[in-house]
Amino acid sequence: MSLLVAQDLHKSFGKTHALEGAGLTIRAGEIVAVMGPSGSGKSTLLHCIAGILPPDSGVVRYGDRELTSMSDRERSELRRTDFGFVFQFGQLVPELTCLENVALPLRLSGMKRKDAERAAKDWMAKLEVDGVADQRPGETSGGQGQRVAIARALVTAPKVIFADEPTGALDSLNGERVMHLLTSAARETGAAVVLVTHEARVAAYSDREVVVRDGKARDVEFVR
Ligand code: ADP
Ligand code: ADP
Repeated sequence: MSLLVAQDLHKSFGKTHALEGAGLTIRAGEIVAVMGPSGSGKSTLLHCIAGILPPDSGVVRYGDRELTSMSDRERSELRRTDFGFVFQFGQLVPELTCLENVALPLRLSGMKRKDAERAAKDWMAKLEVDGVADQRPGETSGGQGQRVAIARALVTAPKVIFADEPTGALDSLNGERVMHLLTSAARETGAAVVLVTHEARVAAYSDREVVVRDGKARDVEFVR
């Protein structure tokens, strides 16, 4: 079943045509790697399909709803309930402990502290970072910080996880560990993952790869 479908997306930043007719289909529960060289439009595509950045033209559908015709408010509500995000760095709140960071999305949706922290602890254990629960993000290693961020993305049981170069700041050993834990956690919950990466080693964790081509067309092509 197609969960997320993007068609004929165009997006320009001034004279830079970042997307020129890009399209993409994500089925429920599948892990898709979006590949391509730096500057080819991968992040722009991810931001457009995740409802963070409005495309200049084209359509994004999520289930039977059209993301591209929703109000900003509807889109941010949908992001909160159905999507999870993991970026390269900088997404944890430095003033909060790691446990408070993971519990935050649940607290913001009105869950009691005790229940939110219990759920957060469970996810931190699955990501093997329960040991840093009481530390602040600045006190952890890069790999631990990314695993805390993944626990936070998963705690609301999203249908889609958007990950933009999630291992970009890590050495290869920690990168592999993060990918292993991210993909097995997604399999467990049935979440789809849209994974932007320029590394084949990271893309190897996906079910399918699409390539955003550099140059004019920048079409997305199915590799496997
Ligand atoms: P990738 O993720 O493949 O590296 P991006 O989607 O980040 O590619 O960028 C595609 C092109 O659009 C690049 O030329 C980039 O410099 C440009 N670009 C992306 N975001 C912006 C922005 N906010 N303002 C201006 N140019 C941008
Ligand atoms: P990545 O591709 O790993 O996400 P980038 O450095 O390409 O990282 O982009 C980081 C942020 O800067 C993004 O929000 C992107 O939209 C923006 N950006 C990218 N290129 C430009 C640019 N030439 N001018 C302004 N903003 C840009």
